[in-house]
Amino acid sequence: EEVLRLERLRKTYNPGTPLELEVLHALDLRLARGELAALIGPSGSGKSTLLNVIGLLDSPSAGELYLLGQPTRAMDDAQRTRLRNQAIGFVFQFHHLIPAFSVLDNVLMPLMIRHGKPTPGDIARARELLDAVGLADFAQKKANQISGGQQQRVAIARALVTQPALLLADEPTGNLDTRTAEGVFELFRRFNREFGCAVLVVTHDPRLSASCARTIELVDGSIVSDQANPPPRPA
Ligand code: ADP
Ligand code: ADP
Repeated sequence: EEVLRLERLRKTYNPGTPLELEVLHALDLRLARGELAALIGPSGSGKSTLLNVIGLLDSPSAGELYLLGQPTRAMDDAQRTRLRNQAIGFVFQFHHLIPAFSVLDNVLMPLMIRHGKPTPGDIARARELLDAVGLADFAQKKANQISGGQQQRVAIARALVTQPALLLADEPTGNLDTRTAEGVFELFRRFNREFGCAVLVVTHDPRLSASCARTIELVDGSIVSDQANPPPRPA
């Protein structure tokens, strides 16, 4: 089952001006449910732009983007927002937690945006995810009272609380030390396995990208390679 499909997708910044710049060139790409793929490439190659377009935060200039089989180009803003909230979870390099809110309330936030006051089911699910990321004991702490690595794990729990079919992560380990970064990737592998959500994660670390089943390489706005990685050797 297909979660994502790009067909000849292009993105041009500042169209029709002297600053016009096409940064994604007619991309074709498919991602199936349950896939775990790394997106790599040099700085400026278009990785963030591609994630923003896939996540419906920005619009393509040409071509088509299908999410869960639905073509998105012709959708209006309300339809795009609904599909984004329903299908996609985001993790950014900087977690964008609300500092003065508790860890638990930060995780609940996407559900509160959806339907207001959290239900007992919402709270149970948020606590389950906090437990899964190893932060069950931190639920009542303020987000600004925990470490950077812990904050990133809260952001992952928050991204998964709506049970998205596709998790997009833009350099989620960019400002974490190696061990903490590996722990974050272990969480992606685990949630990918357990929930079957597709994961597309941008990373600059070759060891982390090799730990994903598939690596897609973007250079100057074109996909120059897309390959399966050998499974990790048993320790
Ligand atoms: P990277 O993805 O290489 O780590 P950042 O995510 O910090 O870098 O920034 C994304 C890129 O987009 C940078 O190259 C930045 O200069 C560029 N960028 C962001 N906003 C604009 C803009 N309004 N006009 C031109 N370039 C921009
Ligand atoms: P990456 O994430 O691979 O570093 P980006 O998607 O951030 O690449 O940037 C790709 C290109 O698009 C860069 O040349 C960058 O300067 C440009 N760019 C990014 N955002 C904007 C923007 N908002 N307006 C104009 N140009 C942008």
